[in-house]
Amino acid sequence: MKPGRKPDPSRPASAAEHAASEKARYSDLPRAKKRAIVNNRDRDAQQAADRRRHERDNGKRNAKQRDYQAKTWESGAAKRKARATARMMDPQPCASCGASKVEAHHTDYSKPKEITWLCPTCHGQQHQKSPQE
Ligand SMILES: [Zn+2]
Ligand SMILES: [Zn+2]
Repeated sequence: MKPGRKPDPSRPASAAEHAASEKARYSDLPRAKKRAIVNNRDRDAQQAADRRRHERDNGKRNAKQRDYQAKTWESGAAKRKARATARMMDPQPCASCGASKVEAHHTDYSKPKEITWLCPTCHGQQHQKSPQE
């Protein structure tokens, strides 16, 4: 139970239900009344509520962060592998303009041997179209 709040039997069963009914109630109000509600908001209470919500969602947020980091690490590993593979391959002239000074372009890091050799100019142009390396 939240501190400073008495249990209210008229409260709806779920938080989602409560939020939906509050939202409907609020959206039916005339503009001036809405503004008055916003102006009369208790800033400290609002901040405290925000902080509580923030703390409540800590676990969820951290899990998301871990998930994101794991994914970016995986893609980083794939990228390193693709680059290492490219260094062992014989460069071909630019696939687009035939220039001899080329860089390895990968359309898919999970296929490190599938390399398109492109000169820096054509490589840059390719990346305008797709963000892969
Ligand atoms: Zn080129
Ligand atoms: Zn590239």
